[in-house]
Amino acid sequence: NNEYYLNRQSNFESNARSYPRKFPIAIKSAKGAWLEDVEGKKYLDCLAGAGTLALGHNHPNVINAIKRVLDSQLPLHTLDLTTPLKDQFSQTVLDLLPGSPSSWRLQFCGPTGADANEAAFKLAKTVTGRSAIISFSGGYHGMTNGTLSATGNLSAKTPIGGLMPYVQFMPYPYSYRCPLGIGGDKASEALATLFERFLDDIESGITKPAAVILEAIQGEGGVIPAPVEWLRKIREVTKRLGIILILDEVQAGIGRSGQFFAFEESSIVPDMIVMSKAIGGGLPMALVAYNAELDIWSPGAHAGTFRGNQLAMATGIATLDVITNQGVLNNVNIAGNALKQGLLALQKRFPCIGDVRGRGLMLGIEIVDSKGQADKLGSLPYAPELSVALQKACFDHGLIAERGGRHGAVLRFLPPLTLSLDEVEQILVRLESALKVLTA
Ligand code: PMP
Repeated sequence: NNEYYLNRQSNFESNARSYPRKFPIAIKSAKGAWLEDVEGKKYLDCLAGAGTLALGHNHPNVINAIKRVLDSQLPLHTLDLTTPLKDQFSQTVLDLLPGSPSSWRLQFCGPTGADANEAAFKLAKTVTGRSAIISFSGGYHGMTNGTLSATGNLSAKTPIGGLMPYVQFMPYPYSYRCPLGIGGDKASEALATLFERFLDDIESGITKPAAVILEAIQGEGGVIPAPVEWLRKIREVTKRLGIILILDEVQAGIGRSGQFFAFEESSIVPDMIVMSKAIGGGLPMALVAYNAELDIWSPGAHAGTFRGNQLAMATGIATLDVITNQGVLNNVNIAGNALKQGLLALQKRFPCIGDVRGRGLMLGIEIVDSKGQADKLGSLPYAPELSVALQKACFDHGLIAERGGRHGAVLRFLPPLTLSLDEVEQILVRLESALKVLTA
């Protein structure tokens, strides 16, 4: 029903192999949490650049920051050559890291999350002289060869042979479908013990890893927050054994969880923090913050042409300023709780919502086959087709949300962090209408 979209040359449609296949619209304008297509239909955007647009579309401070750079004769691109803007951005980021800013170093990357994770792996390998990486089931770290090998999503990696052979996977505490057959805190305790025992075996010959990489809340893996105790245990064991702990905060970081970094919930301090997406305020930016004691890298050890984009530094500063000085974290908690409560209320009425989870404005609902046979933990079979149909029905009702998780059965909400309570209500109304269509 979108004429512009339908009238596009068919070869264009088939050449651009990306989101248009899922969300058949052409966008004319955007403001805050809203998109408007070329035919005037409005959509509430719970994808928001895959979590990149912390302040929503076209926030005035972000737009003004870009205008100021354009009016200032600053170079648009300098590689990594320093400008006062770069110094200001670096200082802003350093001030947001745990502990003293002088205990950290920053490596500008890529500017993608994947490239920053690659840099983190390379530095960990250089520092330790070891090559293995431990990652977790369901983890997502990027689509490059190295990061894909550390990504738990089999569908993306199965067709690609010859990935890094030295990634070992451990189970992530996915309490709704715990692989150990026990739920909740007990599962997290058991998985932490398993992790510890696995590493104890280093003495008996397993390859001692250079690093452990994980997300404090898995995003693409299906919006799964790691229990605090599990994270603390992982920190304790990695520290004791001299293994570098990398927290991939590309999606869950920069305020999305209701704290600046998602790992803050557990008060651990990682050795490396990987940032991208929202750190650039909507423009491409990625960096790794690492403990200054690991700073053995020679200049150029991780090069890349598009490091340190000046416009992204300006929009990054503007975004971080609004997040820290205008009560955005508070809003994430208020709007996030309201949205979660609303999703829980819908779960009571629609049995296809098997689980509601996440923190802050990083929420997801796992779609299940409510008439199927429950497993021994009581969780119902995944319902990937229903989840696809729900995403499409949401889209038809003016709500854009991404899917993720095992079998793509989780509908994920990553709205702007500035979402209002009225917009929360509108998300819920649209989702409810979509659910009604499917279950009628
Ligand atoms: N890590 C996490 C946790 C992510 O969610 C993503 C992107 N979804 C990446 C890394 C990769 O980032 P990019 O797509 O910018 O390479």
